Amino acid sequence: MKNVRFLLVFLLLISVSAFAQNHFYYHTISIEEIEKSLPSRPVSVGFDIDDTAFFSTPGFHYAFTNTDGPNGTNKYGDSPLKNDLFWKDMSGEFDKFSLPKESARKVIEMHKKRGDKIYFISARPPVKNEITSELARHHFSLPANSPKAIFSGRTSKGVFIKKYGISLFYGDSDSDISEANEVGVRAIRFLRSPLSNNKTKYHPGMHGEAVLEASEN
Ligand SMILES: [Mg+2]
Repeated sequence: MKNVRFLLVFLLLISVSAFAQNHFYYHTISIEEIEKSLPSRPVSVGFDIDDTAFFSTPGFHYAFTNTDGPNGTNKYGDSPLKNDLFWKDMSGEFDKFSLPKESARKVIEMHKKRGDKIYFISARPPVKNEITSELARHHFSLPANSPKAIFSGRTSKGVFIKKYGISLFYGDSDSDISEANEVGVRAIRFLRSPLSNNKTKYHPGMHGEAVLEASEN
């Protein structure tokens, strides 16, 4: 009996520590608070695309679950995210089915009113004939001459954040926060929608960053 109790306490401690290693306490920030924290002159800001500016799960859902290949197989093979054809389809067509996030729309409105320059930086690989830039301009009512989306691929987003003088970056993934921080730039975390099928590393608060409140959708 004693041994069983010991074992249970031991298992509980292990699970508590495993939980603590994957969950971080974080502070949330509102759009008003972000606005107050900015200098009065216009600045350049950047947004990640997937799960930050857009809920792009529909295209990724098709990537993972389609049976449109030969004999009912996945047309992108066993690792759709490693298939160039998928990225061509995603950024060239499936973004038609990506929903602009309401939270992103509100943050972008605040930045537009201030006269800030808005960039989008995605870690998707670059493809020809992408429609993502135009859709972002359309859904967020950005001027026709606003910068095209940057597809950073294997290059750290930090390189582009620095190159374009971006002083605040928004993203959902751990790497969005760390790559901005690595070049000395502040980052704010967007939460993923509970329906997102994104499996890349996501630990809000792990870098001590603020999390935008109500940013799931
Ligand atoms: Mg993302």
